Amino acid sequence: MEWRRRHVLGLSDFRPEEIEFVVDTARSMEEVLTRDIKKVPALRGKTVVNLFFEASTRTRTSFEMAGKRLSADVVNFSSSTSSITKGETLLDTARNIEAMTPNILVIRHYASGAPHFLSRHLSCSIVNAGDGANEHPSQGLLDLYTILKAKGKVAGLKIAIVGDILHSRVVRSDLHSLGRMGARLWLCGPETLLPREMARTGATLTSDIREAVRDADAIIMLRIQLERQKTSFFPSIREYCRRYGLNRALFSLAKDDAVIMHPGPINRGVELSDDLADCDQSRILDQVASGVAVRMALLYLLAGGSHAAH
Ligand code: ASP
Repeated sequence: MEWRRRHVLGLSDFRPEEIEFVVDTARSMEEVLTRDIKKVPALRGKTVVNLFFEASTRTRTSFEMAGKRLSADVVNFSSSTSSITKGETLLDTARNIEAMTPNILVIRHYASGAPHFLSRHLSCSIVNAGDGANEHPSQGLLDLYTILKAKGKVAGLKIAIVGDILHSRVVRSDLHSLGRMGARLWLCGPETLLPREMARTGATLTSDIREAVRDADAIIMLRIQLERQKTSFFPSIREYCRRYGLNRALFSLAKDDAVIMHPGPINRGVELSDDLADCDQSRILDQVASGVAVRMALLYLLAGGSHAAH
């Protein structure tokens, strides 16, 4: 397959072959990460700018590490210490950064559509590192990658995603990555956080967590996105935890070899009990490790690589 995309704005229009292509490229990148010297010259002379308007631990660090493993120059921009605080617009900020000729701009923004908007005004490649409640494509791809590593396949698996479905950009990307590869997706949360129209994607919606996790092969727990909630969607965190927190008793309903995932940050003791977050079946840190390989693959492909780097 030939990679033709200039941007990665979301997975909604990714064809299954493209998703597989990224996964294959990420496998080669993962091999690089097992070497003593974890660096290849593939992006030497290229510049990647991380433009983050929202907090991030994993995504920003792993895009930075991914760029550095590929020998790119990586520049990190944080809105809180920039001229955004003096009233500069997103477009002016981005245009000024583009004047310094980066090859790839990785952007996280609280407004859905911000990366799409910039892609219409800038000539460098844009990667969406999470836009509002819209999409988080690299997370969707790394979730797929992690499940493929754990289970060897995704097609036919029952995967439950539990939590704040309404405000989750992770779900919206997982629906494309996991759904397109043939997973049976179950979305679960309180009625108020479960948009009915998501049933159109083919996913099964339920407010009964027991139904969602029963015989599941993988369970992805989500954080309540309080920063995106302007009103109360459930009576209290304690009540939410009682009904939707994953604990040992609920997990015992899943398949014996089921894996637990979470995009992070975890609110321990709310959506996930402490012991499950750290148990043998947790793949949460594998997701983080996969994130570097998947983001290396995306940067590599966008910078013009057409197959795995050596
Ligand atoms: N880190 C993920 C995101 O940026 C999930 C979360 O924040 O809960 O969407």
